Amino acid sequence: MPHAQCPTTTVKLINYKWQQLIFSLGCMLLIIACNNLYPSTNQDAKLLKVATDPTFIPFEIQTASGKLEGFDIDLMRALAQPNPGIAQVALFTVKFENLPFDGMISALQAKRVDAAISGITITAERLKTIAFSRPYFKAGLAIAVRQDNQNIKDFNSLQGKKIAVQIGSTGADFAKTIPNAKISTFNSGPEFFQDLLNGNVDAVVSDAFATLYAIKNGKLKGIKVVADLLTEEYYGIATPKDSPHLDAINKAIATLLSNGTYKQIYQKWFNAEPPELPESWK
Ligand code: GLN
Repeated sequence: MPHAQCPTTTVKLINYKWQQLIFSLGCMLLIIACNNLYPSTNQDAKLLKVATDPTFIPFEIQTASGKLEGFDIDLMRALAQPNPGIAQVALFTVKFENLPFDGMISALQAKRVDAAISGITITAERLKTIAFSRPYFKAGLAIAVRQDNQNIKDFNSLQGKKIAVQIGSTGADFAKTIPNAKISTFNSGPEFFQDLLNGNVDAVVSDAFATLYAIKNGKLKGIKVVADLLTEEYYGIATPKDSPHLDAINKAIATLLSNGTYKQIYQKWFNAEPPELPESWK
């Protein structure tokens, strides 16, 4: 009887089906367990819309082909990377959005973006309307003048002078405190330095690191810095107040500071050892 199935073959077949089922279930459990241990960026990651103004070199740069680069960009991308070895790492996918610096605070207030990174100084005034991460960069203002200027050397010698600043910046706030100064405001660095070179203003008050970087890289010929780090400022990643992402961002900054990634990014852009950073602002 070649076609009749003997009972032992049927039992074997049923056993085999059970084995297959148990094996599949086992595989499923293993996949779930692995996913929980090593969540992938795409699966659980929240999409974080991050505003940046790529005129603040070398913190944010837009290359000719449209790619974003810079200290802040590297830092933000590193913050978003999953790091399976460390539990408290933020998991988000970053989508950068170009915005003019002056529009960033209102975009955050209106929650049109989830965060902003753009060399933004943490100030008491800004903290009234938005929130900041822990400080991620130690910065300060500098005075820049034309190479041949011998009169302007410090804060006092700026009195009554024509000064260019970036609209909405800490440099603009600082310039307001100089007695009798005539202040011109511009949208970005390249514009106010051009005005200084043209002889329309006597000095520029702006972020020291960006100015020194441009001079060092030959991008600002004919300009020198006379007073470096007039103020002590700290940059923070800005978010709307009550942001659900701030805690994860802070934990990720702590991770990058302790695992050497921060130092690596700092050395890449500034060729120097990073200074100590406080855990919180003031
Ligand atoms: N650090 C300055 C500020 O926060 C300027 C930053 C910038 O121009 N991107 O006002």
